Amino acid sequence: MNAASSRHLQRRLQLAFGVIVTVCTLALLYYVAQARQHVGADYTAMVTDVVRAQQDPVQLRQALESLVDGAAPPPLERLEALLWRIPRRIESLRRQLHRSDLAAEDYASLLEELERAADRLPVLEATVARWGQNAPEARSTEALLAQGLAVESDLAWAYSELNERLHQASADQRRLMERLTLAVGMLLALLVFAVGAVMLMLLRLHQQREAMRHQSRVDALTGLANRRRLQEAAEEAFARRQRHPSPLGLILLDLDHFKTINDAYGHPVGDGVLASFAATLQHQVRRGDIVARMGGEEFAILMPESDLEAGRLLAERIRLATRAMRLSGQAAGHRLTVSIGVAEAWDDEGFDGLYRRADQGLYHAKARGRDRIEAASTPRLSQAAKS
Ligand code: GH3
Ligand code: MG
Ligand code: MG
Repeated sequence: MNAASSRHLQRRLQLAFGVIVTVCTLALLYYVAQARQHVGADYTAMVTDVVRAQQDPVQLRQALESLVDGAAPPPLERLEALLWRIPRRIESLRRQLHRSDLAAEDYASLLEELERAADRLPVLEATVARWGQNAPEARSTEALLAQGLAVESDLAWAYSELNERLHQASADQRRLMERLTLAVGMLLALLVFAVGAVMLMLLRLHQQREAMRHQSRVDALTGLANRRRLQEAAEEAFARRQRHPSPLGLILLDLDHFKTINDAYGHPVGDGVLASFAATLQHQVRRGDIVARMGGEEFAILMPESDLEAGRLLAERIRLATRAMRLSGQAAGHRLTVSIGVAEAWDDEGFDGLYRRADQGLYHAKARGRDRIEAASTPRLSQAAKS
């Protein structure tokens, strides 16, 4: 299998997966940060205003008490300012509440309560004014306190209720946001998981395809390259030769009288002999040479960077090694021989031409008695490539 291409794909998928995980994590963190910042922000602002407004009834009570206690100077101006401020504050709160997404029924009664209290302020204001103008013996302290403290307690109650409802709404919103954040987080995790699974599937598919590609180019019995792989390697070698002229040799081999082995000892023994012969070939060649089983008991060796002489030398080594092979089992004692054709590529031919000439060599080797090597004619034009 082309492990390098699988590793390459794996690295690219890992990188892509890393990018997706990072983007999803950043998106989630951004979302959480935004949610934390904005959720309940409206309510927080309103709560601040309500807390400030809650000071109004407290100050009203204090001012009225110091007025009746005869504080000097009487806090009439403070009271006036307070009575002027209270309705405006209520109006501002009313506008904020309408703008917020709080349900109207949650605050309508409290707003009414505040507005009713505000409606009573002009009367209180008049009472305070009269109280200030009257002589001490004509002043009705009870009436002033009764009016003022009634307004104060209504305001205090309504503000406190409003404060509580706003806190409640803010807490509800936060809870909802937490659930939403969890849901978004789970969705993103699911997305990352799904993308990871798809990438893993892609990698497995790629590896399976590479494995099948490899199998379709290997001879199952001997583990050598098959005819298709040799053809591909030859095309690559011829393409390389176009760019960088260099010799290219081809050896074709055919076991002699192989049929007799099958006939004498059976097909399985013949298979074993073919596998042993393949191992012998692999043992003799250089790295870079491609040994293939072309079919039956015919083999080929493609020799990049090797001329006819190098081909002939290798062929002779193989011929001798084949004769020296000690077959095992039932075939022990059988002397195996091989006939070999050798050729070197001409500059103006392709693989078919080279193969044809090596095959002619092989044919002559068979015809001239087997267990021998016949080389095709010396390359015509490759001298230029050699020099
Ligand atoms: P020659 O010297 O002329 O090459 O004679 P030969 O017997 O080797 O040639 P022939 O082409 O007549 O026979 C080849 C034999 O190879 C015939 C076939 O049974 C055998 N053969 C082909 N493929 C296989 C295989 O995969 N396994 C086995 N055991 N035998 C095979
Ligand atoms: Mg044959
Ligand atoms: Mg044969």
